[in-house]
Amino acid sequence: MKIYPNLPSIEDYEPYIGSEATERIAAKAEKLRGRKVVHINSTYYGGGVAELLNAMTVLMNNAGIETGWRVIVGSPDFFGVTKKMHNALQGAEINLSDRKDEIYESVVEQNSVRMHLEHDFVVVHDPQPLPLINHYRKRGPWIWVCHVDLSHPNGELWKYLRPTIEKYDGAVVSLPEYRQELKIPLRFIKPAIDPFSIKNRVMTEEEIDERLDHYGIPRDLPIVAQVSRFDRWKDPQGVIKAFEKVRKEEGATLVLLGNTATDDPEGMELYTSLLDHKDDRIVLLSVEDTALVNAVQSRAAVVVQKSLREGFGLTVTEAMWKGTPVIGGNVGGIKHQIDDGVNGYLVDTVDQAADRIIKLLRDEKLRKSMGEKGREKVRNNFLMTRYLEDYLDLFLSFRC
Ligand code: UDP
Repeated sequence: MKIYPNLPSIEDYEPYIGSEATERIAAKAEKLRGRKVVHINSTYYGGGVAELLNAMTVLMNNAGIETGWRVIVGSPDFFGVTKKMHNALQGAEINLSDRKDEIYESVVEQNSVRMHLEHDFVVVHDPQPLPLINHYRKRGPWIWVCHVDLSHPNGELWKYLRPTIEKYDGAVVSLPEYRQELKIPLRFIKPAIDPFSIKNRVMTEEEIDERLDHYGIPRDLPIVAQVSRFDRWKDPQGVIKAFEKVRKEEGATLVLLGNTATDDPEGMELYTSLLDHKDDRIVLLSVEDTALVNAVQSRAAVVVQKSLREGFGLTVTEAMWKGTPVIGGNVGGIKHQIDDGVNGYLVDTVDQAADRIIKLLRDEKLRKSMGEKGREKVRNNFLMTRYLEDYLDLFLSFRC
């Protein structure tokens, strides 16, 4: 049953996932009707986690599960520390001084007094709000969800965080290969997209033209695009190098569209460093415009996501859903989305990226067939109802 008629509900997915799956998921949601759930993360905008929570919290409420979303409030030095932790969870070096521990722990404590968490399920995302658990008496299960690869964390950081993580009743990572030894049960939940959002709904050609024109993106040559936060792991420099090779053989425009998340202080610096590469065929845009993301992903002849590390890579799913072939870095979650040579390409080097871009630019039939297969892969695996069902199964596993 749909409580908020103007907002997406499980039933709206029936045309994509069929009646059997729709009924199965609705029945699981019904078992949790009236329960109170809260998700907590560190940014309301920018980055994949905000995308996921935006869509899932609406779906859950529309199914009668009373679901809130809270965001950790912190000063720039707090997010400076947590960004370093985020990088170190993926293996980077970190100097964990007492001052950093103090900033981290005291900001989270301040947040804890404002949050009043009395929910049946508390779901805490990523390291930023992790120590919240130290300040509450549990009313129900607490679950920690980590959206990055945990398999090779910096040892010092892991030693510091692990005892807090193990206070939770369960943990979630995106993929089995991201697992860590933990004393608590661990589940694997791959991210997904909302096909009804402004970012993923079907746009008309006129709407796409309007958005591209608005930002002065030329439409005379095929577009190669990467849509990503300005983050070194997304390798925008590598994309520019690949494009420079492509341009020696094929005419095209490169669009590097990005934003910087509120919890990511490194973004601006990287963006500024990329400005040096700007020329008339490279469009570098740092704007907050969801419809533009949709327009670029829909119109591009080829989407690139040349990440060097990637927890999952929602941008890959988003472009595949639009029937655009994607060339992804052969890393992390991208490997679970792209079947190399079938519905896109996986690449390890700049040269490979350049080679696959040229191949796709030259072959419209190939672009179309890969694009169609990509959309099918998303329909079967990466729509928001599948993500919701994984969470419903997780909640129900606690026998509430
Ligand atoms: N995104 C956006 N505008 C931009 C760049 C990215 O809205 O200029 C969105 C993108 O569409 C995707 C999310 O931010 O939904 C990024 O998620 P992803 O998993 O690809 O990477 P993350 O930023 O979480 O590392």
